[in-house]
Amino acid sequence: MTISEIQTDTCFWQRMLRLAEYYMGKVDGIMGPLTRAAEAKWLTAAQLAAKEYGTYDGRSEAVIATLLPQAQVLARKWMSAATKEAARQRVCVKLIEGTRSYKEQNRLYAKRPKVTNARGGSSWHNFGLAFDFGVFSEDGKKYYGESTLYKVLGNLATAIPGATWGGTWTSLVDEPHIQLSMFNTIKAAREAFEQ
Ligand SMILES: [Zn+2]
Repeated sequence: MTISEIQTDTCFWQRMLRLAEYYMGKVDGIMGPLTRAAEAKWLTAAQLAAKEYGTYDGRSEAVIATLLPQAQVLARKWMSAATKEAARQRVCVKLIEGTRSYKEQNRLYAKRPKVTNARGGSSWHNFGLAFDFGVFSEDGKKYYGESTLYKVLGNLATAIPGATWGGTWTSLVDEPHIQLSMFNTIKAAREAFEQ
């Protein structure tokens, strides 16, 4: 999803702004002055992160824009390390998936054949904290779904404070997945997000 698509779901957007600690008002689906002020703070923080930690290809930037500014910092720090390692390995790395609203998650959940087992609120991607990366050919055109480099590149996240890498999970290893360590369980994230 793009950030513009996310913002059209005002309640979801207000929940993201609240989790980022920019919005203290009600989740009422109305773009009032408090929501607009929170949005402005979000934007300022996002611009600061871009200035401080660098910018990347268009696809990665579109993904980063959907993350909480705190997670944007993490994504940019990781991209900084990952793009250097990718160049050494003669491949290209891009972020390919960021935040999905509950509505979007439910739309995917309803798809047949099945593409996900997670309903809205049951994926780490539903709170603005998580992103997935892809390994591509050096010219950025060909996507490699399978590569030993997922382990190498994903592992770079473990050196960043406040990052959790899906490659360290024991139940469901998810090497392309990185997130901000804000909650220990999806349930805890969902409860904080929906409160
Ligand atoms: Zn993921």
